[in-house]
Amino acid sequence: MDIENMVQNSALLKAREGGRRKGRSWKWRDMLCFPNISQCKDLASSMERNYYSLCVIQPIGQELFWLFCQSRPELKNHVQLLAVFGWKQSCIRGFGTNCSIIQKRLIALHNYLSGEPFSQYQDSMYFDRFLQWKMLEKQPITKRTFRHYRLLGKGGFGEVWACQVRATGMMYACKKLEKTHVKARRGESMALNEKEILEEMNSRFVVNLAYAYQTKNSLCLVLTMMNGGDLKFHIQQMEKKGLAEDRVRFYAAEVCCGLLHLHQKSILYRDMKPENILLDDNGHIRISDLGLAVKLSDGRRAKGRVGTLYYMAPEVISDQKYGMSADWWGLGCLIYEMTTGRSPFRAPKEHPNNSEMERRITSTDEEYSMKFSHEAKNLCTKLLTKDPKQRLGCLVSGEKEVKSHPFFQQINFRMLEAGVIEAPFKPDPRLVYCQDVQDIDEFLPVKGVVLDQTDNEFYATFSTGSNPIPWQNEVISLPDLTDYI
Ligand code: ADP
Ligand code: MG
Ligand code: MG
Repeated sequence: MDIENMVQNSALLKAREGGRRKGRSWKWRDMLCFPNISQCKDLASSMERNYYSLCVIQPIGQELFWLFCQSRPELKNHVQLLAVFGWKQSCIRGFGTNCSIIQKRLIALHNYLSGEPFSQYQDSMYFDRFLQWKMLEKQPITKRTFRHYRLLGKGGFGEVWACQVRATGMMYACKKLEKTHVKARRGESMALNEKEILEEMNSRFVVNLAYAYQTKNSLCLVLTMMNGGDLKFHIQQMEKKGLAEDRVRFYAAEVCCGLLHLHQKSILYRDMKPENILLDDNGHIRISDLGLAVKLSDGRRAKGRVGTLYYMAPEVISDQKYGMSADWWGLGCLIYEMTTGRSPFRAPKEHPNNSEMERRITSTDEEYSMKFSHEAKNLCTKLLTKDPKQRLGCLVSGEKEVKSHPFFQQINFRMLEAGVIEAPFKPDPRLVYCQDVQDIDEFLPVKGVVLDQTDNEFYATFSTGSNPIPWQNEVISLPDLTDYI
């Protein structure tokens, strides 16, 4: 093995372990130093006073509002119910049709708390402390906020690097979009689209965006760190002949949950393929790379031959309008490839030209070997149905029909969504699951591209700094925060 690669891997492994201060800089207290409350006045007057956002959704806001309620004898007993049943349940699902008695009580409780107690809270020292946290959250984010480690992968507009927040020790993956490449290929709206969609994500099955910032040469998206590598790596490097069915089922079920999260937000993903599905430390997956995703509000449909040809649905290839159907086709391709080690319309190592690929996808049937169980084959056949109207996931009964397919019979989706199911394969914490650094092609800036004022305005729009919920989760998990809050 190459020395350079060994050095970089051991630096990354050491950072992951964290050491004595859990990877935090010895100056972390200075970095998380509260501003004086007098400096929070502008923020206080401009902040939207929404109970749900301030006291339920934002983790630090919830914590401080909770402490406020604990400090008031008349509220203390009321809020016990929230501690037992969770804060968000009543808000997320509560207004649906199947309201249980407990949910009704939780809704009533939130209604009560959002009145008089919420306005008293805003006059209390707990809210002052919240404002101070919000000021910290808004600190400028720069290259210096992070330590940088090895290159993890390469994409269309730039590289993905491992990084660590100096103040907290939290590891992330930093996806850099090279400014000259973005400009040369007119990728501005694509980059902004990716950032804005990522920002909205709040699911354990989709990578989350923690920060968006810029350096002199790049736009940076700081994402959930996925140490287990991508599924392409696992299929090609580790298990060349396909994964065991239990693993296929588990990954497919989690991908299905991720897709449903996206679709619920009217987002079509369009880039399903093994290299975009990443594993974390515990072997759970997340969907990543939302560069091609689109928001389809008000039942609009997408147009455009977008995606990677091998995984494109027939309706995308033949340039019709399409909806979420394209993603269910993608799931079919993914299950097929996880099972056999190759994508459905191509022999191993074969590289048919584009028109041949298009012909096969639109008018030939995929073949099933003995590796497919009866249920796996049945599910793939239904997802790889050429006519989107006949495809599983797109029928009148809606998307839930995918989850209820017999292939997933052993999967308890409620428990899976709660994160309490153990993964069938846990990555080795002492391994770095990516290509050697020297095997990842270098990414060179485009020559002759001049960046001007209009570009700077766009970069400023992109660079919004910390994303509140992930940022608050990051700092709230610090071990000695309790005496700090
Ligand atoms: P592109 O949009 O250019 O395809 P991706 O977002 O897919 O870029 O990233 C390229 C590669 O970088 C991925 O295939 C993966 O190997 C690696 N990578 C991306 N995001 C992460 C992450 N959050 N954690 C670890 N590795 C990542
Ligand atoms: Mg990708
Ligand atoms: Mg992409």
